[in-house]
Amino acid sequence: MKKKVALITGISGQDGAYLANFLLKKNYKVIGTDRRSSRSNLWRLRRLGIEKKIIFEEMELSENCEIDRMFKKYRNLNEVYNLAAQSFVATSFNSPINTSNITGIGTLRILESIRNFNPKIKFYQASSSEMYGKILEKNQNETTPFNPTSPYAISKVFAHFITKNYREAYNMFAVSGILFNHESPLRGEEFVTRKITLGLTKIFNNDLDCLELGNINAKRDWGYAKEYVELMWAMLQRKKAEDFVIATGKYYSIKDFIEECLKILKIKARWVGKGLGTKLVRLKDKKTIIRINPRFFRPSDVNLLHGDASKAKKNLIGNQKQI
Ligand code: NAP
Repeated sequence: MKKKVALITGISGQDGAYLANFLLKKNYKVIGTDRRSSRSNLWRLRRLGIEKKIIFEEMELSENCEIDRMFKKYRNLNEVYNLAAQSFVATSFNSPINTSNITGIGTLRILESIRNFNPKIKFYQASSSEMYGKILEKNQNETTPFNPTSPYAISKVFAHFITKNYREAYNMFAVSGILFNHESPLRGEEFVTRKITLGLTKIFNNDLDCLELGNINAKRDWGYAKEYVELMWAMLQRKKAEDFVIATGKYYSIKDFIEECLKILKIKARWVGKGLGTKLVRLKDKKTIIRINPRFFRPSDVNLLHGDASKAKKNLIGNQKQI
């Protein structure tokens, strides 16, 4: 049987690496695109042992010519997974224009190229639960209105709706997965889960005195990246192009996450103080090992995200055999 060919943008990221691994196991030919960098950023692919199995291409999302060149070169693509983005919310406040250009308009550039060169390609867009922002419904599903609170989330809303628009206007198989937070050992070190696991490990090894964090009361619905990428693929195997929320349906605060890490490291500690004065004090030596630094607060934050993935459970997970 002829091998299917998939192109993954953002192959060097957490999801790109897991998705590439998954598709290779399914006997796909995988083309991975990334922007040019003076430093190698392929450690995740190396860690999964798949670096040499991927065809790499340079494709900067702000550059129409590079995107067009890619779709002209690979006219035989079956699936495109658009995972590339300026994906860090905090950075989007410092670089809102770049974030809109990459995370928002970058998606449109790809869709337009697909429309011009091969509209039969199936397209997956990495939408985000951050689009719900200051939530308008307690549990968020595919019909919950978006209320984004950061340049990142606003760019993702644009990308989400332009994907829907190309599906409806040009009859393209273009879908978005609205993924709630998903983590793994391959998560970037700037994200809070990795910041906490790395910071507490350093404290445990006496390589760091104190970890500084922002809003530890924010609550997130956290899943596992390796599992979530399989559902990206499942969305593209269906007959009907539709968007899906992917979430666990359970939420925890960042404080809860810290407490779980403390249990694993067997560090006994106690929270003291309130608000910005909150501290975590280690019992054995009374040292403050976590404190709050307002520098890490977002100018406008999302306090609670809680996904309702019933549609995905019914159509993607329960029916794996049918797709
Ligand atoms: P990630 O680890 O931050 O990876 C982002 C990827 O985009 C990297 O490969 C990065 O390349 C690439 N990229 C950034 N700017 C680019 C540009 N200008 N041109 C081309 N490529 C560029 O993100 P992730 O966690 O794998 O997430 C994958 C996608 O899902 C992202 O779109 C993210 O916004 C979205 N999402 C993630 C989550 C989550 O919890 N992880 C939740 C919802 C949605 P470099 O290696 O060069 O930086």
